[in-house]
Amino acid sequence: MSLNPAGWRPEMVVSDNAAPPTFTGNKALMLEEALIFEIGDTHTTGVDFGSAPAAASRLAGLERTQPIGLPGLSEPEAVRHYTRLSRQNYAIDLGFFPLGSCTMKHNPRLNERLARLPGFADVHPLQPRETVQGALAVINELAVWLITLTGMHGIAMAPKAGAHGELCGILCIKSALAARGEGQRKVILVPESAHGTNPATAAFAGFAVEDIPATPEGRVDLAALKARLGPDVAGVMITNPNTCGLFERDMKAISDAVHAAGGYVYCDGANFNAIVGRVRPGDLGIDAMHINLHKTFSTPHGGGGPGSGPVVLSEALSPYGPLPFTERHADGRFTLVEEETVGDRHPHSFGRMSAFHGQMGMFTRALAYILSHGADGLRQVAEDAVLNANYVLRSLEDVLDAPFAVSGPCMHEALFSDDGMAEGFTTLDIAKGLIDEGFHPMTVYFPLVVHGAMLVEPTETESKAALDQFIGALRSVAARAKAGDPALKGAPHFAPRARLDETLAARRPVLVWKEPALPKAAE
Ligand SMILES: *Cc1c(COP(=O)(O)O)cnc(C)c1O
Repeated sequence: MSLNPAGWRPEMVVSDNAAPPTFTGNKALMLEEALIFEIGDTHTTGVDFGSAPAAASRLAGLERTQPIGLPGLSEPEAVRHYTRLSRQNYAIDLGFFPLGSCTMKHNPRLNERLARLPGFADVHPLQPRETVQGALAVINELAVWLITLTGMHGIAMAPKAGAHGELCGILCIKSALAARGEGQRKVILVPESAHGTNPATAAFAGFAVEDIPATPEGRVDLAALKARLGPDVAGVMITNPNTCGLFERDMKAISDAVHAAGGYVYCDGANFNAIVGRVRPGDLGIDAMHINLHKTFSTPHGGGGPGSGPVVLSEALSPYGPLPFTERHADGRFTLVEEETVGDRHPHSFGRMSAFHGQMGMFTRALAYILSHGADGLRQVAEDAVLNANYVLRSLEDVLDAPFAVSGPCMHEALFSDDGMAEGFTTLDIAKGLIDEGFHPMTVYFPLVVHGAMLVEPTETESKAALDQFIGALRSVAARAKAGDPALKGAPHFAPRARLDETLAARRPVLVWKEPALPKAAE
């Protein structure tokens, strides 16, 4: 590995101004790419068919009268367009992906192999149950593992992402309160450091959201929480480990206080990777918690695949969980308990989270991951993830401000602030500088409790060499931000586009391509 131990020096100003322009706008393999509509206009076609023989229409006047408006491209043109686009993307299979809170770990190929077996990949949700016994067995076995690992009582497998799982858990809480005749409990308490999906979920489910302050060391303020509890509080949503990368040590005391006040405890379990095999959330008094299979259990996410967010439930909330669920019979056969088969066994279910049974491909991958690690291997996952994060934290705290480093070791992610940058230099400049170094930036400006936050989650699947290279790059970029290197303000220099107007893009996104008027034919 070629790591410049001295790091960045002021004379090392990066500039590509000297590069001559090219005819195409391409820079070697960094290719300029037009929109597909601009490559193939809508008035041509990529294939040659003779005109269709005249036939009487059977569309009863519903025939298309306008051109279809799709770009006319040949197969190689279409293939090249998408292949070129894919090469402009960063991926976990390309390099280190330090995005905090997202757990971007390697997706083992063994999982992919198993998920592609025809018996799993080709099942249809409406197939006769006796023909999908193996698939039901996978769903059921994964459910048993997740319940065991979390020490909980029941599970809903259908939610299709973390946020969907949050909604599922909150709807269970809502149903349980309604069953107790306590629909007046309308407030959900959420810590300041919460992931944005938590307050959004509570609001979407009809609750009012109130903040719980954090202590100076980055944890939930137990005294402030206790002071707010009362007959209008439905429950709390607490992320543990939290988004500052810290374990909420008072979790059991929080749960006891919330329960004593008649509320329920929702735990955002997206950060389960830091504690899997070490802590059982059920022992901490949690009533509902989603698990991101696409984080902790290595199923692909981002552009790589759909998510999956099963929710584990306490004994108190299990009766309200959604349908369907799998049931294993004494003779070893599986059934799926649905509305029509539920009878009097699950009468309090709040309904369904999705049309069918969840993400089969993700279930298969997650179970393959669990079985290939075993219980001891999963515990080591958590230990190594925490070790890697602490290595990053301690290797950078002399060049970047680490506001909670005084709170002791972190869990799975290391949090830094923009304190100490040169005048006018921000977290954004550091993130852009990392792009030139060939890394996907870390999560920036989240959590909100820290000014100019930078959240680095290395996960356990990075080697020490990979971490050292990233640390070296980040040290160098941080030194440039501290020294006020003007070239950093222009970063990234080596990406197809430098700084976009992100505010304008967010406020006024142009999502629809409008066909330009055709030039008028000469008279
Ligand atoms: C990722 C994440 C979520 C949301 O999960 P999705 O699968 O993206 O919906 C919620 N909370 C935390 C802390 C997360 O990291």
